[in-house]
Amino acid sequence: MTTTTEKLNELKARLRDVADLNSVGAVLHWDQATYMPPGGAAARGRQMAVVGRIAQEMFSDPATGRLLDELRLYEESLPYDSDDASLIRVARRDYEKAVKIPPDFLSAFYEHSATSYQAWTEARPANDFARVRPLLEKTLDMSRRMADFFPGYDHIADPLIDFADYGMKAADVRKVFAELREALVPLVRAITSQEPADDSCLKKHFPEQRQLAFGRKVIERFGYDFLRGRQDKTHHPFETKFSTGDVRITTRIKEDDLGYGFFSTTHESGHALYEQGVNPSFEGTPLNEGTSSGVHESQSRTWENLVSRSRPFWEHFYPQLQDAFPEQLASVPLDEFYRAVNTVRRSLIRTEADEVTYNLHVMIRFELELRMLEGRLEVNDLPEAWHAAYDADLGIVAPSDVDGCMQDVHWFGGHIGGAFQGYTLGNVMSAQFFDAALAAHPEIPSEIGRGEFGALHSWLKENIYCHGRKYTASELLHRVTGGGLDIAPYIRYLRGKFGELYSL
Ligand code: ZN
Repeated sequence: MTTTTEKLNELKARLRDVADLNSVGAVLHWDQATYMPPGGAAARGRQMAVVGRIAQEMFSDPATGRLLDELRLYEESLPYDSDDASLIRVARRDYEKAVKIPPDFLSAFYEHSATSYQAWTEARPANDFARVRPLLEKTLDMSRRMADFFPGYDHIADPLIDFADYGMKAADVRKVFAELREALVPLVRAITSQEPADDSCLKKHFPEQRQLAFGRKVIERFGYDFLRGRQDKTHHPFETKFSTGDVRITTRIKEDDLGYGFFSTTHESGHALYEQGVNPSFEGTPLNEGTSSGVHESQSRTWENLVSRSRPFWEHFYPQLQDAFPEQLASVPLDEFYRAVNTVRRSLIRTEADEVTYNLHVMIRFELELRMLEGRLEVNDLPEAWHAAYDADLGIVAPSDVDGCMQDVHWFGGHIGGAFQGYTLGNVMSAQFFDAALAAHPEIPSEIGRGEFGALHSWLKENIYCHGRKYTASELLHRVTGGGLDIAPYIRYLRGKFGELYSL
C-alpha cells in the first residue's frame, strides 16, 4: 500500500522531470534565437523535436494518469486553492489534453516549426514569400489536424485558442473584439485626422551600448533581478524561463530608433517580472508559469505602456535619458519627448504600433487566422488578403510582404490559430488590473514619478505573479477585480490619456 504522500511525491517527481525536459527545450530554442549559427538549424530542429517528444511521452504516460486518478479523493478533500489541489487539478487538465495528441504528430510538428522558423529568418529579409509558402501550407494543415484531436469544438480555432487562453473560444474573442472595435475606430479616426506628433527626436542616431545600458538601468528599478536573469539580442524579442532562478529576456536594438529597443525591453521585462514572481515552491510543476497568454501580455503591457509611456515615468527618467544622449536630446523638451513616445499614426508594424491602433493590428491577424482555419482563405492568397485588411482598417498598404504577412514570427514558429488574441485580451486586462492596483495604492503614480516601483511591483506579485497557473485567467480576474473581462477600464484609460494628448 502506498500512502497518499508517496503518490503525491511520485507525481511531483514525474512532473519535475517533464518540466526539466521542457526547460532543456527552451534553452535550445533560446540558443537558436540568439547565438546559434545558421548552420546549426537542421540539427537543432531534430534536437528540439527529440526533447519535446521525450517530455510529451513521459507526461502522457498512463502512469501519470493513474497517479492523478489515485489522488482524486485527496484533491477533493482539500480547499480548491490549496497548492496540492491546484497542482493536481492543473496537471490533470494538461494531461487530458496531452493524451489526445499522438507523440509522432507532436515531434513532427516541432521539427516542422524549427525548419519553418529558420526559413522565415532568411526569407523575410529577402521578401521571399514563395520560399515560406509551402512551409506555411504545411503549418496550416498541421494546425487543423491539431484542432481535430479535440473533436466537439464549436469553431476549429477553439482548441488552439484554448492552449494559449484557457477557457476562451473564437466566439468569445470575436465578441470582445467587436465591442473594442466599435470604441476604437472613432478614437483612431479622431486622432489620425490631426497632424501626427513629431517624433523625429527618437529617430536620431542612438549608439547601441548606451541604449542597452539605459534599458538595463530602468528594468532593474522595476525589480527585474539580473542575478536570476539576463538579456541578449535577437530578431524578434521574447522572454523565456528555464527555472525560477533563470528567467531571460531578449531585445533588438535599432540605432536609428530609440523607442524600438527601449519599449521592447520594458515589454519583455514585464513578462519576466511575472515569471520571476511565481511562488518558488511551484518550481518543477505545471503551476510554475504565467496562467495564460492574455494575462502574460497584460503584465508586459503594464510595464511597457501604463508605466513606461506615462508622464510621471518620464518626469523622473527623461533627465537621465538626456544625460545618456546629450547631443541627441539635450535640446528636446520633456513635453515634446512625451508626445513623441505616444505618437498615434496609421502604421504597418504591430510591435511598433501605438497603444490606440495596436489592437487593430491584432484583430486583422486574428480574423486572417480564423479564415485560413475555416478554409475560406488559401495560404497562397494570404499576402493579398493581408494588404486588403490593412487598407480597410488602417488605410495603408505595405510595399512588400516583409512588413506584410511575413512580419510576425508566430505563424512561422508555431500554429496558425490561437497566436494573437492574447495580445489584445492582455491590453484589456492590463487596465483592469492596474485600476485594482491603484484602488489599493493610490500613491502608485507619484511613486512612478520618483522612479520607484515598489508598491506596484509588490501588489502585482501578491495578487497575480505568485499564483502562477493556480487560477485561470477568468478566476484571477474575478478574484482581483470582482468581475470578468471588461473593456471599459481600458477604453477609459485610452480616452483619458490620448484625449489629453490630442485635445479631443
Ligand atoms: Zn509580449
